[in-house]
Amino acid sequence: MNKPFSRQKEVSRIHYSQATPGRRAIFLVEARTRKEVRQITRLFDTVGQLAEVVPISHGTLMSYAVQVHSGATLFGKIEWLLKTQFAFSLVERSFSEVTFRLVQSLCEESETEMAELPQCGICEAVDPFPARATVQFKGQEEPAHLSYCARCASLYAEEQEDEWIRGLVSRDRARLRVSHDVVVTLLPDMVEERPEQEIDLPIAI
Ligand SMILES: [Zn+2]
Repeated sequence: MNKPFSRQKEVSRIHYSQATPGRRAIFLVEARTRKEVRQITRLFDTVGQLAEVVPISHGTLMSYAVQVHSGATLFGKIEWLLKTQFAFSLVERSFSEVTFRLVQSLCEESETEMAELPQCGICEAVDPFPARATVQFKGQEEPAHLSYCARCASLYAEEQEDEWIRGLVSRDRARLRVSHDVVVTLLPDMVEERPEQEIDLPIAI
């Protein structure tokens, strides 16, 4: 049997969920004791009820990426809490490759373990809140979970949404074979707007 594409897995179906646009920030706090580790964990658990929270590192340096979909007053509240309750904290009101590298080098110096964050399948940029594609293959292959940064996902945007998503997955470094009849399903946006006043952050932590 002639198998010219035997090295490339053949995609049968793509489930795609777009990145949800929002304001992003990175918070980094030094935890000097186990008690402070617990306090910071609890604080960001609470923040997770109001916004999207992705832990970046856990240990001597605790860091989190946070994304909100409405006003950014939550960022100010978290910043104030960290500045008043802990000896050292940093806040960056964006998420860029530069900020990520800074967090990474601080974590290396303090021997803090970092979480594995989603990486763009095209440009390899780290993005805590990426567009995601779950790709199913013909045959017995396990599905693959792929991520795309906002820049790449919008760079290849075309009017035909299905065509654009097929194009995106076909440009992935995983070198997948995506034919034009691959079924694309757009997953609904799962993020709900959660008004800030519903939950109070623990002020006396
Ligand atoms: Zn990218």
